[in-house]
Amino acid sequence: METTDWKYAAAPESTDHIKLKNRYDLFINGEFVKPNSKKYFATINPATEEKLADVADANEKDVDLAVNAAKNAYDKVWKKMPAKERAKYIFRIARLMQERAREFSVIETMNGGKPIRESRDIDVPLAANHFFYYAGWADKLDYAFPNLSTGKAGKKPESLGVAGQIIPWNFPLLMAAWKIAPALATGNTVVLKPAETTPLTALKLAELIQESGLPDGVVNIITGFGKTGAALVNHPKVSKVAFTGSTDVGKLIQKSLAGTNKKITLELGGKAANIVFDDAPIDQAVEGIVNGIFFNQGHVCCAGSRLFVQENVADIVIAKLKQRLETLIVGNPLDKNTDIGAINSKEQLDKINSYIKIGIDEGAEIYQSKCSVPTKGFFCKPTLFLHTSQSHRIVQEEIFGPVLAIQTFRTIEEVIEKANNIPYGLSAGVWTDKGSKIFNLTTKLRAGVVWANTYNKFDPASPFGGYKESGFGREGGLHGLMPYLNL
Ligand code: ADP
Repeated sequence: METTDWKYAAAPESTDHIKLKNRYDLFINGEFVKPNSKKYFATINPATEEKLADVADANEKDVDLAVNAAKNAYDKVWKKMPAKERAKYIFRIARLMQERAREFSVIETMNGGKPIRESRDIDVPLAANHFFYYAGWADKLDYAFPNLSTGKAGKKPESLGVAGQIIPWNFPLLMAAWKIAPALATGNTVVLKPAETTPLTALKLAELIQESGLPDGVVNIITGFGKTGAALVNHPKVSKVAFTGSTDVGKLIQKSLAGTNKKITLELGGKAANIVFDDAPIDQAVEGIVNGIFFNQGHVCCAGSRLFVQENVADIVIAKLKQRLETLIVGNPLDKNTDIGAINSKEQLDKINSYIKIGIDEGAEIYQSKCSVPTKGFFCKPTLFLHTSQSHRIVQEEIFGPVLAIQTFRTIEEVIEKANNIPYGLSAGVWTDKGSKIFNLTTKLRAGVVWANTYNKFDPASPFGGYKESGFGREGGLHGLMPYLNL
C-alpha cells in the first residue's frame, strides 16, 4: 500500500469546525479595518494549492495608522498600567489560546503545510506556554536589577515604546508568541507583521486578543509583503525592531536602521552541525538526526542540516538512516500519521529543488526516499547527500528544506573546526556517551544553542539566538526580556 497517497490517508483531521473568513482586514487599534491600499492577496493551502482566504496588503499609510495606534496605547494606557495588571491580560491570552488549541493547530497546518501532529503537540502548546511564561515575569521585573555601582535595589526598568515585529512562515503562531509575549510583559506595545504566506493564525490571534479585552492598540497585526515590513521597521515612532527571517533581509534591516538608535534583535538563518561520535547511542542518534532535519520539512533555522558522523560508525549510521527514511510518511499534513508535510510555498520548493540539483552537480551522492508524494501541492522527498565536503554550497548555504548534507570525521578537533567553519552559528547537536566531550564541545562550538543527545528541544525559559550571520540578541527566558527594556 502506498501510504503517502492522499486516498490512503489514515486519519485526516476534520476541517469542518474551522471557520475562516473570506477576507481578512488589518487589526489596528482593537478592530479589523479595511486597508487604505484597498488591496488584498490570496493565502493558500500549500498541500492542495487551494485558496483559503484573501488577506489585506498594508501600505505605508496603514503601517502609520498601526504604529500611531500602538504609540497612543503605549503613552495613554500600557506604560502606566501596573505590571500585575498587564500580567492578567497576558495570562488571559494564554488561557484562550489553550482553549482554542485545536482550531489554531488545524489552521496552522492548513496555511503552512506542517504536519498536524507538530502543530497540535508542539507549535500551539508552546505558543501558549510563551504567554504563560512571560505573563509570570511581568510583575517580577520591578527593582529586580540592582544598581551595579551601589549594590542597592535599582530603579524600575523602563519599557521602550512601540515594538515593530516581523516574523517568518515556518512557525507562524509560535513566532508571534515569541515576539508579542515578552514585549507585553515588559510594558511595550506591538505592531506585528506575519509572513505573507502564513498570515492566518496571527489573524486568529488578533481575534483572540480582541476577545481577551486587551486595551485597544496594545497589539496591532498588519499583513503584507516585504514592503510592509520595511515601512514598519523604518517608521520613526518604532523604538524597537525584532526580526526573525532570512539573513539577507536581516542585513537589509540592519543597514536601513543604521544611525537611528532603534534597538534591534535579529534571529536569522542557520546551518547547524549535528555531530555523532562513535560512542553515541546509535539508534537514539538516528532518531535525533531524523528529527533534526525533517521536523517541519526542514523549515527550521536551527535544523540539523549538516550531519558529521565519526568515520568508524558512518556505515552503520547511514544504513540505519536510509532504512528510517523509507518509513517516513510524506503527504497530507492534516493526516495524523504524516511525518513530513507540504513545503510552505512553490517558491520555497523551487529553491530546495535548485539546491538538490546543485548538490548533484557538485558531485555529492544523493539518496532520496522511495516514497511517492502527492501530485498536487508542494512536496519534497526526504533527501540525503553523502560524501559532501566543506567547499560544497549544499554544506555552506541554508536550504531550509528536508535535505541533509553528510560528512565523516576522525577526530574531535577536526569536527570542531569543520562545524565552526561556516558563516552561521545558531545551533548544534552532539551525540556521545561521554559527558566530558559534551562539555568540551559546548564551549568550542560557535553556536547559540547546543543540544546534547537530543535535538530541537524548546522551552520558553531557555534563551535562543545566534552567533555570526545567525543574528544577535536572545529570545526566551530572562534574556528574552532584556532587548525590550532600558535598565
Ligand atoms: P524567507 O526567505 O524565509 O521567506 P524573509 O526574510 O524573506 O524570509 O521573510 C521573513 C519576513 O520578513 C516576512 O514577514 C517578510 O514579509 C519580511 N520581509 C521581507 N523583506 C523585508 C524587508 N525588506 N523589510 C522588512 N521585512 C521584510
